[in-house]
Amino acid sequence: MSEFFKVVAPDQAFQVLKKHMPATVGAEMVDTAGALGRVTAEEITSPEDLPAFARSTMDGYSVRAQDTFGASEGMPAYLEVVGEVPMGKAAEVSLATGQAAVAYTGGMLAGSADAVVMVERTQKVDERTIEVLRPVAPGENVVQSGEDVRRGDPVLPKGQVIRPQDIGGALALGLTTLKVSRKPRVAIVSTGDELVAPHQRPGPGQIRDINTYTISGLVSSCGGLPIHVGRVEDDFEAQKSVAAEALDMGDIVVFSAGSSVSSRDLTASVFDSLGDPGVLAHGIAIKPGKPTVMGMADGKPLIGLPGNPVSAMVVFDITVRPAIYHLSGCVRPPTLPTTTATLTRDIPSQAGREDYVQVRLSEQDGTLEAEPIFGKSNLIYTLVRADGVVRVPLEKGGIYAGEEVSVRVY
Ligand code: AMP
Ligand code: MG
Repeated sequence: MSEFFKVVAPDQAFQVLKKHMPATVGAEMVDTAGALGRVTAEEITSPEDLPAFARSTMDGYSVRAQDTFGASEGMPAYLEVVGEVPMGKAAEVSLATGQAAVAYTGGMLAGSADAVVMVERTQKVDERTIEVLRPVAPGENVVQSGEDVRRGDPVLPKGQVIRPQDIGGALALGLTTLKVSRKPRVAIVSTGDELVAPHQRPGPGQIRDINTYTISGLVSSCGGLPIHVGRVEDDFEAQKSVAAEALDMGDIVVFSAGSSVSSRDLTASVFDSLGDPGVLAHGIAIKPGKPTVMGMADGKPLIGLPGNPVSAMVVFDITVRPAIYHLSGCVRPPTLPTTTATLTRDIPSQAGREDYVQVRLSEQDGTLEAEPIFGKSNLIYTLVRADGVVRVPLEKGGIYAGEEVSVRVY
């Protein structure tokens, strides 16, 4: 077996690609209602004031604050109730001195009113009269027009991943469409003579293709659009032609398997055949996942993930994921959720190599424990049964049982 060449540190893996990558894929307009997880392609400013009218924040009475000054339980202010402002309706009632109108949370204030008295601070004397037991200041219990956001205010920065509240905020302003980055297309090719489609029964020596689907799921989870280009046998010409197709269809090309250095591993030479600069790095100082190929052709990143499904998922996170965020113009990529737990067993590691160890989490007497899943770490059910993964940094020679670790939770 020949040696890996151009091995890079894990934190350099994406940098190798980034240097050669274009800024972003283009933009498109989408319905705001369906824009969850998309990335804004421009700064969005408010076309109007919100709220558009002064609104009560309490159930009670619209009043002129001045009429309540000095009011107390012993010396209440007496106000005449001249009507109500129904929800969803313009205020048809206007107050003269000494008058009040019934107000509901979120409703408009009566004309000439400048404050709201909570219903709890009043007493009904008769159908037309209330006692106000405490004074209110002008503006009290009122959201002023434009208090939430003013016309022209920035409401969403460029490069932001759209969250549910952002959708609500945009729609509150009538912004029913938003300009977002097009979803980066990730063209996925699974290589290997042994692969069959999941609906097929594998013959002797064959296995069902896992990676096409786990990689697709990962691509979708970070806002990319997975494209299944196909499964292809370990044949250079066949792979080269599928790779050219993938390069045509995708903004990123991802190959699964064949990424190591034996004579059966074709990914590196296929990438080199696609154009300049071809392979930029071969090997990442990481376990699992060392046999990874990274290259560029036609201004598009080419990423050859290891065939081992666990390795493929680990390496995806440090290569394909940042590439998708980069091409989406995402300024602050969402951080993956983590939790702190106490390690139950030593994790050995070699300095100079980053290790990723799958763990199961459980609660023991109020503390969260992380139990490493050792053994045959190349099995898909290692991942299915795992709750998260612990990273042993490059410079560390392992982590001892009892130490606190940060667990990236799935
Ligand atoms: P390779 O990277 O080609 O050396 O493959 C490493 C291991 O991953 C081998 O056991 C392959 O059978 C397995 N493998 C390769 N591709 C896939 C795939 N698409 N789904 C599941 N396992 C795979
Ligand atoms: Mg193979």
